[in-house]
Amino acid sequence: QVIVSFNQVSKVYRNGCQALEAINLQIRRGDFLFITGASGSGKSTLLKLMYGEERPTQGEVMINDANLAGLRGDRLSKLRRQIGVVFQDYKLIPRRTVFENVAFVLWAQGFTRKEIHRRLLPTLKLVGLHTKADCFPEELSGGEQQRVSIARAIVSTPPLLLADEPTGNLDPDNSLQVLKILKKLNAIGITIVLTTHDEQLVRATRDPVMQLRNGHLFQAR
Ligand code: ADP
Ligand code: ADP
Repeated sequence: QVIVSFNQVSKVYRNGCQALEAINLQIRRGDFLFITGASGSGKSTLLKLMYGEERPTQGEVMINDANLAGLRGDRLSKLRRQIGVVFQDYKLIPRRTVFENVAFVLWAQGFTRKEIHRRLLPTLKLVGLHTKADCFPEELSGGEQQRVSIARAIVSTPPLLLADEPTGNLDPDNSLQVLKILKKLNAIGITIVLTTHDEQLVRATRDPVMQLRNGHLFQAR
């Protein structure tokens, strides 16, 4: 079952910069897809098109058979809730605890207090942070902060997780730990798309790899 489909997708930014050209891509439920490429090759743009942060200049982006171009307002928000996103710089709220950072997503989606409490501990356990629930982000290492951001991305159980250079700010040990957690999530059925320019990370996996070069996508492995 295809959950993400790009059909001849191009993206030209308003300043004339062509970030992607004629991309064709199909991601199936349960895939773990690596997308590599140098800085500026279009990796972030590709993910932004998947979660509707940018719109294609040409072609179609389909998520679960819905054409993103046709979605606005509530229907777009609803689709976006099906997609967890993790960024290189974590994007945690500094003056909120780990618990609050993760709970916020559920609260914003109207979950009850009881349901939020029911979900939080298992999610924090999954990323190995159940003992850090009351810490503030600045009290955590980079690897731990990234694990909080992963918990936040998956706490509402989205079927699709996008990770944009999730290990970009981490040392090799922490990078592999983050990869291990993502593998675990993939094993329980979450489809994952991960961008990276870290060759070592790519070598640590046997999953399919695609490479972006100047806005063109190639099967690399
Ligand atoms: P918007 O696209 O809504 O105007 P942005 O903050 O995305 O707002 O971009 C503002 C301008 O800054 C863009 O029109 C673009 O020219 C420039 N810009 C933003 N990000 C980049 C980038 N990564 N590389 C080159 N130019 C950029
Ligand atoms: P990567 O994630 O691989 O570093 P990006 O998708 O961020 O690549 O960028 C691809 C190309 O598009 C780059 O040349 C970048 O400068 C340009 N770009 C990215 N965002 C914007 C923007 N908002 N406005 C204009 N150009 C942009």
